[in-house]
Amino acid sequence: WNRHKNGDLYAVMTTLSAVRDSAGKPLQYVGLFADITANKTHQRQLEHMAHFDALTGLPNRRAGLDILNHAWSTAARSGQVFSVMMVDVDHFKKINDNYGHLFGDEVLLRIADLMRQSFRSNDKLFRFGGEEFVVLLRCPHTQAARSAFERLRNRIAQHDFPQVGQLTISIGYTAIDADDTPSVAFERADLAVYNAKSEGRNRTVAHADL
Ligand code: GH3
Ligand code: MG
Ligand code: MG
Repeated sequence: WNRHKNGDLYAVMTTLSAVRDSAGKPLQYVGLFADITANKTHQRQLEHMAHFDALTGLPNRRAGLDILNHAWSTAARSGQVFSVMMVDVDHFKKINDNYGHLFGDEVLLRIADLMRQSFRSNDKLFRFGGEEFVVLLRCPHTQAARSAFERLRNRIAQHDFPQVGQLTISIGYTAIDADDTPSVAFERADLAVYNAKSEGRNRTVAHADL
């Protein structure tokens, strides 16, 4: 990295080559400097796109799974327990059908914001796909985790969404500890969401193992 006279930083790629005499002894060196700031910026944008969801700005599924794997290996080392919860918006298809896909996007954006406001920075939140979100809560007590999930569910149920008015979410959760693997914990959270749906939606359901 180098700095322009005006103070702006710029990235430089430098290639140095030796010019040698007939005996192979270096006579001089030639340096070629290229300003690669644009490439660097482009590279950063691509990296960001690969890890973050364009609509909500949340980590995407791939980045989320990395986060989960990392948290799990920490848990395995320290004996810490996490709660993993999955959110699925209820009857979201109707919102798209009634108001259009772009409007549906606005609703998803607002839900993502409400979710961000509902958890601490220590807790990990990502967009699993479509209208599904995942939260990894650093909380040893599943009862306390449940209260946090219920607060979110109530907050969304009480929110006044432009035009749409009221909407609800279904939440499924499970605990993840050292004896687990993240993908198995995910399957349990997913199953719990499925149960929340079949029990009537707008509810928080623990996987049967809790
Ligand atoms: P329920 O979960 O309560 O069973 O009903 P649902 O209508 O939400 O069910 P489903 O999961 O089948 O539908 C989710 C819909 O979400 C389908 C898809 O069109 C919509 N969707 C997925 N991703 C996006 C997105 O990024 N933007 C918008 N606007 N819609 C999306
Ligand atoms: Mg869904
Ligand atoms: Mg849904």
